[in-house]
Amino acid sequence: MEQTLKGDEAGWWVVSDAGQIWLPQGALPNGTATAWALQGKTARQIGEWQGKPVWLVCHNQNADMTSVRQLIDQDAGLFQLAGRGVQLAEFYRSHRFCGYCGHEMVRSKTELACLCHHCKERYYPQIAPCIIVAIRRGAEILLAQHNRHRGNMYTVLAGFVEVGETLEQTVAREVMEESQIQIKNLRYVSSQPWPFPHSLMMAFMADYASGEIRHDPKELRDAGWFRYDQLPLLPPPGTVARRLIEDTVVLCRAYHENGD
Ligand SMILES: [Zn+2]
Repeated sequence: MEQTLKGDEAGWWVVSDAGQIWLPQGALPNGTATAWALQGKTARQIGEWQGKPVWLVCHNQNADMTSVRQLIDQDAGLFQLAGRGVQLAEFYRSHRFCGYCGHEMVRSKTELACLCHHCKERYYPQIAPCIIVAIRRGAEILLAQHNRHRGNMYTVLAGFVEVGETLEQTVAREVMEESQIQIKNLRYVSSQPWPFPHSLMMAFMADYASGEIRHDPKELRDAGWFRYDQLPLLPPPGTVARRLIEDTVVLCRAYHENGD
């Protein structure tokens, strides 16, 4: 429920606009609305963290607006709530008018939705499902350098679910498109909301089945098999990619020490 801040409301403040978040001194503001000069602004509670409300204020503070990536290596719950706020702010900003009839919309008072009173359409935030998969071959893991990443980091394969696909089909298609290999023994591991801009990463592990790696140069700069004890630069801790790689390294080591 949206409310106009009187000033004595307290908690964590996700102040967001245009996909960015306000992080004065690099941290999420915590305290009363007055302490952060937010009184008079419109806010909506979007969760709780450490027993205190987390508020969303859709507003551009001009200074100290930055990417929510700054919070990746902090507490996972805090990063998740900040990402939720940034995505909701983007949803409201991109749904001011109805896509069907063009009339101005209003924000629902009861749920996270925008309503068109003219044609009765109801819009919810869109989430783009995305698969990410770690592939093991014996004591090795398949890692690739993605064109969209700068620097020398290697990570696992990933891609968006297409309309009408199952997750299993997406994994098989992405792995084939990007590396030309076939996999088996696909297992679901976990998921992570990924607010860049509105993905849900669904993480899998799989085993190599057949084929020789030939990477797709449109997506990847390089791809190859890496022994678990000779790994290149990896994604930062806190990412689901890093967790997948670490879980796969455990399997690689067990394979190396005991056989399959
Ligand atoms: Zn409409």
